[in-house]
Amino acid sequence: VTTAPAALTVRDVTVRFAGLTALDAVSFTVEPGSVHAVIGPNGAGKSTTFNVLSGVYRATSGTVHLGSTELTRLAPHRIADLGVARTFQNLALPPHATVAESLMLGRHRLTRAGFVASGLRLPSATREAHRHLERVREIAGFIGLDKELDFPAGALPYGKQKLVELGRALCMEPQVLLLDEPIAGMTADERRRTAAVVAGVRDSLGISIVMVEHDMGVVMRLADAVTVLDFGRRIAGGTPAEVQNDPAVVQAYLGA
Ligand code: ADP
Ligand code: MG
Repeated sequence: VTTAPAALTVRDVTVRFAGLTALDAVSFTVEPGSVHAVIGPNGAGKSTTFNVLSGVYRATSGTVHLGSTELTRLAPHRIADLGVARTFQNLALPPHATVAESLMLGRHRLTRAGFVASGLRLPSATREAHRHLERVREIAGFIGLDKELDFPAGALPYGKQKLVELGRALCMEPQVLLLDEPIAGMTADERRRTAAVVAGVRDSLGISIVMVEHDMGVVMRLADAVTVLDFGRRIAGGTPAEVQNDPAVVQAYLGA
């Protein structure tokens, strides 16, 4: 019997900064087509985990695999090229770009014809540009912003700007999407809308999602699996229901 490899396998990852162990032999696996939440109190190591997965921080020891491909210690752009896209906790959209232009940024790594061909207006480059624009339109529809393609992204309400950021990551055609607090700072309405888009990314696009999120309500509704960190250690893991009733988790959150 052969089983599909996990989308992401994090094995015994330790990250040390001068005198401080931010992650201590943390392991978890992200199943294909699932939402995997990483939660824990402040300082638990959530952002460090996120930064290791995206290549911003290097693991002191341990490994990260995408399927059977090792990602450990690759540069962020290599990890993105291999199919792990991320969003940023704070918005990282260019200030004057339209929604379409912001989404198109996610297509750059997929551009084969390149700038020379497009500068010469070769037919291949034109065809490719059309293909990218088609995909940008589809993804704008997916995030519910197809009416706002020519609108300056920076002038949209905060919740929609965050959706553009998510759409930009989707434009990279990732296998795994890393979401850093995707609903933080949103209104209730924006939170509902974003949660529905995230569920759609999993259910319609089949993309695996790793989500660092503070809002326990959203984690419980959306996540298929949860890893709980505290002081850099994995203290619990399982389904949302299992984790919610775990005494170690209750204790960590109550600080008892
Ligand atoms: P969380 O996101 O769960 O709040 P972090 O991963 O940001 O936690 O931080 C975990 C620990 O690692 C904290 O004690 C934090 O101060 C420390 N830390 C994180 N990044 C760095 C860094 N670049 N240099 C030194 N210490 C860091
Ligand atoms: Mg953090």
